[in-house]
Amino acid sequence: MSDTSLTAYAGPVLGSPDAERAPEERRGLHYPHGRWVPGPGALFEVAPGVHWLRMPLPMGGLDHINLWALEDGDGWVLVDTGLSDDVTRGLWAQLFEDGLGGRPVRRVIVTHFHPDHIGLAGWLCARWGVPLEMARTEYLLARMLALDIRPEPPGEAIDFSVRAGWPDTAIQALRSQPWGRYGKIVSALPAGFRRLRGGEVLSIGGREWRLVTGRGHSPEHLCLVTDGLMISGDQVLPRITSNVSVYPTEPYADPLGDWLESIEALRAIDPDVLVLPAHNEPFRGLHVRLDQLAADHHDKLAKLHALCAVPRTAFESFSTLFRKPIGERDYGIATGEAVAHLHWLEARGRLRRLSDDSGVDRFEAI
Ligand SMILES: [Zn+2]
Repeated sequence: MSDTSLTAYAGPVLGSPDAERAPEERRGLHYPHGRWVPGPGALFEVAPGVHWLRMPLPMGGLDHINLWALEDGDGWVLVDTGLSDDVTRGLWAQLFEDGLGGRPVRRVIVTHFHPDHIGLAGWLCARWGVPLEMARTEYLLARMLALDIRPEPPGEAIDFSVRAGWPDTAIQALRSQPWGRYGKIVSALPAGFRRLRGGEVLSIGGREWRLVTGRGHSPEHLCLVTDGLMISGDQVLPRITSNVSVYPTEPYADPLGDWLESIEALRAIDPDVLVLPAHNEPFRGLHVRLDQLAADHHDKLAKLHALCAVPRTAFESFSTLFRKPIGERDYGIATGEAVAHLHWLEARGRLRRLSDDSGVDRFEAI
């Protein structure tokens, strides 16, 4: 498992069918603005008082994040913040200068702990003298990761990679890397925060926004839902599949179980909402998209189960799960996703785990 690589947190995809399918095949999704997007750091009003703001990301394959600026009386409420880098800080500084009409930021809300969402939260909260508002588990995890900086990876990360069947050369390369990249791409977080909870209702700019918790991509991801609108963060994305991974922190977790349960729970939301996602463009067709996401995972699970007619490691499942060849720099994220799918099947009695003397786990179909 590689360290907190950016891609592991941002939710892009390794050759998922979704990422590669032609847009016209995305049946049932409607993009009111087509593929048009606002320029970096420019505001576009998608609904009265709700502004779309796009910030760049320096990552291959995923080059932007959508943030949302909500008008609230004489000020603004920000939802998500962008990565902590000079480019994004510069774009925010410009917005404070003119784009936000000289009105102050009153609240900073973060959907989840991933660096492209929380990256500049500490900096923004300090700049405006406001508390950071987010779910408790997400805040605690962010603080833990930001503080966990070591000269080499912890034993748990090495064991995780050995168990997944990585080649020795990749294990040796992992051992030689420093640990703790998260703390370098997230600005210093406030030592305290205001807790937000699923089910809570926030009054912002004359709208009532209900908080809805999603799980699986991150442990306590918050979406904001109001009449006709849903700020979905990474919980529902139209053209990429959110990363659902097991990490060495909790190596026997079943995040895909959480993810598929969340998909079911999100069906309670009005199917006609305009979804405002953290990546790609605003779209309608929430329930169609939920169906597609569930179907894509079940398709992968079926292929994986068939592959495991012969006992397989997570590493040996890459070519079945991902269309693109997986290079060594993507072993971490690919392993996380592969193990998530293996664990879902194991937890439901479809696979059994066979551990050998060298610490490698293989999974066999039952
Ligand atoms: Zn994310």
